[in-house]
Amino acid sequence: MSPRIPAHNGTSRSAEIMSRARLRFPGGVNSPVRAYRGVGGEPFVAVRGKGASVWDADGNEYLDYVLSWGPLVLGHAPDVVLHAVQDAMNDGTSFGMPTEREVDLADAIAARMPHLEMVRFTSSGTEATMSIARLARAVTGREHILKFEGCYHGHADAFLVRAGSGVATLGLPDSPGVPDALARLTLTCAFNDLEAVERIAREVPLAAIMLEPIVGNGGYIEPLPDFIPGLRRIADETGALLVFDEVMTGFRIAFGGAAERFNVTPDLTALGKVIGGGLPVAAYGGSREVMSHIAPTGPVYQAGTLSGNPLAMAAGLATLGGLTREVHDRITEQTAALVDGLRGIASRLGVPFIASHAGSMWGFFFHEGPVHTFADAQQSDVARFRAFFHAARRRGVSLAPSAFEAAFMSAAHGPREIGETLHRLDEAMSAAAAGRD
Ligand SMILES: *Cc1c(COP(=O)(O)O)cnc(C)c1O
Repeated sequence: MSPRIPAHNGTSRSAEIMSRARLRFPGGVNSPVRAYRGVGGEPFVAVRGKGASVWDADGNEYLDYVLSWGPLVLGHAPDVVLHAVQDAMNDGTSFGMPTEREVDLADAIAARMPHLEMVRFTSSGTEATMSIARLARAVTGREHILKFEGCYHGHADAFLVRAGSGVATLGLPDSPGVPDALARLTLTCAFNDLEAVERIAREVPLAAIMLEPIVGNGGYIEPLPDFIPGLRRIADETGALLVFDEVMTGFRIAFGGAAERFNVTPDLTALGKVIGGGLPVAAYGGSREVMSHIAPTGPVYQAGTLSGNPLAMAAGLATLGGLTREVHDRITEQTAALVDGLRGIASRLGVPFIASHAGSMWGFFFHEGPVHTFADAQQSDVARFRAFFHAARRRGVSLAPSAFEAAFMSAAHGPREIGETLHRLDEAMSAAAAGRD
């Protein structure tokens, strides 16, 4: 029997802490998805993580596939990362001056992604993508950016733009407070719609074509085989820069990221999540030539007081150090085993379900498939997802609280954890299908 974890309503510690939090933070949280609006109910408050598990404030243990939304590729609190951060901390927590660890981490990134000849470290993915927009505009002398429906590139004004349905629309802001004049410079079209990209790129001079090479923020959506090579060709023919936002996919979908997996080299890349190993680090980078436009070598200004922070660099270095090709391959196998197992369960139960993975990033929809666009993803059965999510949580499996988020795997998840997860999710899917809790 799987554990039965009660809902956190009433008098649980998690509920008590959340009621205090709601007085201090909008929605009780410091980032909106954490509030469970996508699934309803009360979030659990995390107090500890180790390996494949996370514990809530009431002492319940969950096998975790959120993994801090992607960064924890070695699992929670791996000893190598803890020791590296402790070592760094003994020498001071911040200098605001150059340090050797920054160079070491940039070397470690370039060893896996040779097209990142130069990088600039930032503290969040949002800063990295925002700076890329500025840099791409400066380098090309153009103002428009093309993004894809369902792709998330952080919360900078330029990227909080709703997609039109299927055709290019002048951007409408997704959030009040984003000036129309700025939103109009962001064009959108459907992921995998190469014809629309071609049409837009020939009509409008684009500074950048930007994408999540595998969409993880609109559920899990893979590119069709000709999509990314097609974007490279269109960018070359029309003078736009091709930008991979690999904040999520980097060091997950292949040892060398999207460029290795799809054999296409972007002009600029955003990284984050894994490269900080759970501390706040992100980066953007590309060729020496393009990056030389950044201050102080060039005129494009971008800065950060805590950028390249020594504790964060140490965590990133230890994480990439632990993520050898062999470890990456092993995590990939565990991910395949979980995804295959889930497909088997759904098919036995006769539940419409598709699941897939690339490396250690995976996702599923309650949908007959295929899902090639965000509009397809939105046709999935969200009510069934909610029921499954809560049934899984009650049985001690932590999934992202939204039908439109990717899931992750870590090196700390072995065959034992995968087997236990499949056992619990089998019960959860049966319960959800039968309308039981
Ligand atoms: C998480 C994410 C971001 C934003 O990173 P933050 O560190 O949350 O600002 C940007 N792009 C993608 C693809 C992401 O997954």
